[in-house]
Amino acid sequence: MGVDFPEKGQEIGEGQARMRAPLASSFPRHEQTFPALTPQEIARMRRFGTIARYKDGDKLFETGKPGHGMFVLLSGHVAITQRDGLGHVTPVIDQGPGQFLAEIGQLSGRVALVDGHAEGDVETLLIPPERLRALLVAEADLGERIMRALILRRVNLIQGGVGGPVLIGPSNSTGVVRLQSFLTRNGFPCHLLDPATDHDAAELIVRYSPSPSDWPLAVTASGTVLRNPGETELARALGMIGGPAGNRIYDVAIVGCGPAGLATAVYAASEGLSVAVLDTRAYGGQAGASARIENYLGFPTGISGQALAGRAFNQAQKFGADIMIPMSAKSLDCTRADGAFALTLDGDDSLRARAIVVASGARYRRPEIENLDKFEGRGVWYWASPVEARLCVEHDIVLVGGGNSAGQAAVFLSGHARKVRMIIRGGGLGASMSRYLIERIEATPNIDLMFNTEVVGLEGEQGLERVRWRSRLSGEDSSAEIRNLFLFVGADPATGWLDGCGVTVDRGGFVVTGAQSEQNLGRPVPTLETSVPGVFAVGDVRSGSVKRVGGAIGEGAQVVAALHGFLGDAAKPAL
Ligand SMILES: Cc1cc2nc3c(=O)[nH]c(=O)nc-3n(C[C@H](O)[C@H](O)[C@H](O)COP(=O)(O)OP(=O)(O)OC[C@H]3O[C@@H](n4cnc5c(N)ncnc54)[C@H](O)[C@@H]3O)c2cc1C
Repeated sequence: MGVDFPEKGQEIGEGQARMRAPLASSFPRHEQTFPALTPQEIARMRRFGTIARYKDGDKLFETGKPGHGMFVLLSGHVAITQRDGLGHVTPVIDQGPGQFLAEIGQLSGRVALVDGHAEGDVETLLIPPERLRALLVAEADLGERIMRALILRRVNLIQGGVGGPVLIGPSNSTGVVRLQSFLTRNGFPCHLLDPATDHDAAELIVRYSPSPSDWPLAVTASGTVLRNPGETELARALGMIGGPAGNRIYDVAIVGCGPAGLATAVYAASEGLSVAVLDTRAYGGQAGASARIENYLGFPTGISGQALAGRAFNQAQKFGADIMIPMSAKSLDCTRADGAFALTLDGDDSLRARAIVVASGARYRRPEIENLDKFEGRGVWYWASPVEARLCVEHDIVLVGGGNSAGQAAVFLSGHARKVRMIIRGGGLGASMSRYLIERIEATPNIDLMFNTEVVGLEGEQGLERVRWRSRLSGEDSSAEIRNLFLFVGADPATGWLDGCGVTVDRGGFVVTGAQSEQNLGRPVPTLETSVPGVFAVGDVRSGSVKRVGGAIGEGAQVVAALHGFLGDAAKPAL
């Protein structure tokens, strides 16, 4: 059957335009989100920007195009509207003198997520991204108010699904869950249209995407249609990735944007080093998958890993770290022919830096279960965020693992699933899980603990339908209809990209540092330095580290002193 299929990059027309409700009325914490600046405050800001004037109808910024920084309105009005790739245009808010226009992405000149048009003649103070960062640091009180507003604005955009792509596909399909989870983990808005409940979405699916393998369609603000794109393809289309800056040589490149990498970035950038940070998937690393971290200092009621990492991500940007996500380090060249290390990245891009911090943490372990790969992303999950929790409502689920991460996930998912069967190889939890979590699990009536048991088989056609498990005591098999299986069975160090560059790893593949390296090298080595001078390792990837958020963050702070030492020495002329 002939179907009118759009080519990559083809645009969906304005014909599908449909207005949504204005958002301004629904802004919570309006005063903090849109604070007015006093004339005195604006006077203090003048040294950071230049005057820019606009005529009626001129665009100050445009959805999907790189922004210019922050505009402080000196006179006139600007209309902010939201626009998606389906042609829907909705008023958001009108801003007048004393207001400022920007959201958190403008700290690093990322794409705008809304449109801004001059209404009549407009005069602004335009503060470009690097000067905006300088302002936030130099003007502490004012900077705090502005930073809070920038963050709240992004939160509002995420909650309203404004400025990001429209995903069109069944809400429980693999592709939708994958892309929603990727965008959510990266603090990027998106709006889902499910053909089961939305008439327009049903029509668009029929018109543009005849096969389930093409789901979801992702429509960017400029109208570009992507069919079931990979994360990197989508991120590039949305302008999310800031690429390596040409021939620039950074003081330090940090591989991994988990707690250890983020802490290194915040401390190094705030102390004046030029910093690049990259991550294959999202900021937050394993901690980003934690529903509630209760043992991190200063958060007596707990904090989700995503919230903690989101704050650190914004903080690193405030101090000027260049963050590239999604972007993988493929290999490291330690020959330093011209004095700099060279990282090979996705797409054969490269990035050079005078020092390297290995913060690539650990990857979820995949147990030996037949057919496991067939069901990954189709009912088998390695983390439990609200996106996956939504799929479990009113269903029984199976969760494998006996450590703290498994315990946290079980407690979190028990609030959504009908029953959580927790399968544990060993005979108890005491040796592997914190006491507070054991008590909470025991007090949760819909968590069933199944000790001395292991999962042995998975069945299903399109997705997971049945899970089989075996008692290690009796050898007896049982099974149940299960559509979601969560695996929390530990993690292996992510060090493959270091192969061949001479960095010593221990028998488990963890990177050896400090005194452990000294034995091999016969010279004193700073605590967090590896066997290759100038290459440091922090967090879970490091041999002997404590595998906790607090430990990873502490090491990120500590390594900066060693970086200063190394970079200072490297700068001295050889005698
Ligand atoms: C579900 C869960 C719950 C947890 N709960 C707690 C808790 O309550 N309290 C606690 O203290 N600890 C907890 N932990 C442990 C804690 O999250 C980790 O100790 C911590 O995240 C380690 O931080 P890290 O930065 O060293 O590594 P990771 O968090 O593993 O981050 C490493 C990052 O590097 C990236 N990366 C890997 N290879 C590459 C490459 N080649 N190129 C680019 N990027 C790469 C990864 O994508 C990842 O984002 C939990 C862990 C899990 C999984």
